[in-house]
Amino acid sequence: AAKNGGSGAVVYDPDIDKASQQSLSLLSELRHAAEQNEFRLFVQPKVDLASGVVSGMEALVRWVHPERGMVFPDNFIPFAEKTGFIRVITQWVMEKAAATASELARQGLRMRVSVNLSTRDLMDQELPQKFAAVLARHQLTPAAFCLEITESAIMDDPVRAQHTLESLHAMGVALSIDDFGTGYSSLAYLKRLPVQELKIDKSFVLKMERDAGDAKIVRSTIDLGHNLGLKVVAEGIESQAAWDMLAAMGCDQGQGYFMSKPMPAEDFAGWLARWTPPLKQ
Ligand code: C2E
Ligand code: CA
Ligand code: CA
Ligand code: CA
Repeated sequence: AAKNGGSGAVVYDPDIDKASQQSLSLLSELRHAAEQNEFRLFVQPKVDLASGVVSGMEALVRWVHPERGMVFPDNFIPFAEKTGFIRVITQWVMEKAAATASELARQGLRMRVSVNLSTRDLMDQELPQKFAAVLARHQLTPAAFCLEITESAIMDDPVRAQHTLESLHAMGVALSIDDFGTGYSSLAYLKRLPVQELKIDKSFVLKMERDAGDAKIVRSTIDLGHNLGLKVVAEGIESQAAWDMLAAMGCDQGQGYFMSKPMPAEDFAGWLARWTPPLKQ
């Protein structure tokens, strides 16, 4: 189901799902977008909060539509997940992310690239082989990648998710739990997953400066992650104050508009050359 939102972007609206006509047209538009190369890879830097060193980047897809302009992922990823088209997008993103990482490595910049996976990807038995093929094509080791999986994607089918995650882990790729705190997973279950990183959802980080409750959630999530032996990453850092607060809480890494908004992958090396960490003396 597609309709025009206020911004002129394609909007997926589950309420008009029955308008299958429109669903079909969004699906054909997505297919067309893939054929016409309308997807763009954006990346957002991931920074070590104690040292200010940039350690990696997250790959975030954009759709540049010839008439509607920039379409953000929230306006087509949920639909792509529903229809299964997400597998085409994931394959494209992995390929582009690998090309970006290997180009940066050629310039002497070793950056781990994080790619988002959805439930459908976790259900894909061939995902580990597809991923291995991407690595081989770009002469990268699995350690060049991190795969981010949301808590809710894992809980959709925990048994199969665990199975896929075990295979990916065995290959040597880093795994991260995204949007932590927004799902309903049990800690006992999370403890068994072969993940190395936990990302605190930006909803908590964005509010923690004003809301003591959110600050407590952030602090206890950092402690929880560390107690489980995980690296903790905060997303949604929009100010120096938020950076300082998270660094004081011992949060390992962060992402946010304060450092940089997501940018076209080609711009990353230039951004990195200009980057100066805003550390307190
Ligand atoms: P996410 O994986 O949680 O990605 C973080 C989102 O937070 C990104 O939105 C990013 O631009 C935004 N963000 C980062 N720092 C800040 C900040 O300081 N303030 C605010 N307000 N926002 C910040 P984006 O790029 O629009 O992506 C939205 C979601 O779409 C992602 O959430 C992810 O769930 C999904 N997505 C994006 N690209 C892909 C993809 O290639 N594959 C899949 N499966 N999902 C994707
Ligand atoms: Ca993510
Ligand atoms: Ca997230
Ligand atoms: Ca999210």
